[in-house]
Amino acid sequence: MSEVEMSVEKHVFEADVAKLLHLMVHSVYSDKNVFLRELISNAADACEKLRYEAIVAPQLLGSDPAPRITLTLDEENARLIVEDNGIGMSRDELVESLGTIARSGTRAFMERIEAAQGKDGAQLIGQFGVGFYSAFMVADNVDVVSRRAGSDTAWHWASDGKGSYTVSTADLADAPARGTRITLHLMDDAKTYTARWTVERIVKDHSGHVPVPISIVEKPG
Ligand code: ADP
Ligand code: MG
Repeated sequence: MSEVEMSVEKHVFEADVAKLLHLMVHSVYSDKNVFLRELISNAADACEKLRYEAIVAPQLLGSDPAPRITLTLDEENARLIVEDNGIGMSRDELVESLGTIARSGTRAFMERIEAAQGKDGAQLIGQFGVGFYSAFMVADNVDVVSRRAGSDTAWHWASDGKGSYTVSTADLADAPARGTRITLHLMDDAKTYTARWTVERIVKDHSGHVPVPISIVEKPG
């Protein structure tokens, strides 16, 4: 077994995350497009956090000062990749942010769901910003590779959304130099998210106000 394999840690999702994920995966919510708005909004937030930290620590920007978000369409492998060169996440931040429900908005969402006893859960997804976990409406596996600004370590978070996730160190050669790369392994009925016109339209409709340039590229086959 290689060193990298030996350092894979398995974590169980917090109970509320498991519930939320179950809801996402089994959702009959029709506007699954919102997942992209959520991932782009997180990417833009990460760029904004970096800009803010760089006011007192300009070296964090290194030779790459301009914020950017890149959506890579990989039709051949049915993957959509959302990458930013923002602040990135340390190991502890990955575990805290993508293993628990830290945000108050999602808590409120869960409380409403409990109160509604599953009746209108699907509609509620649209009313609340459901965040990162909405990726599991369209993906059966999600990989997150992240390198925090200023860090010489990159981390790989992976999950099938079924109760647990793994965290391991990532090869620096396969990680963004700074920031976060989220790879969605698209479900069979979500392959349309590798089509340029689909993705362009969603970005235009849902993320037009985002203050960071978004480029859409096709993975060379
Ligand atoms: P929210 O954005 O409302 O906090 P999310 O579920 O969308 O909730 O994201 C949870 C947290 O995960 C974020 O607050 C952030 O700390 C972290 N996160 C998610 N995506 C990224 C990213 N691309 N870069 C850095 N941190 C991220
Ligand atoms: Mg968010």
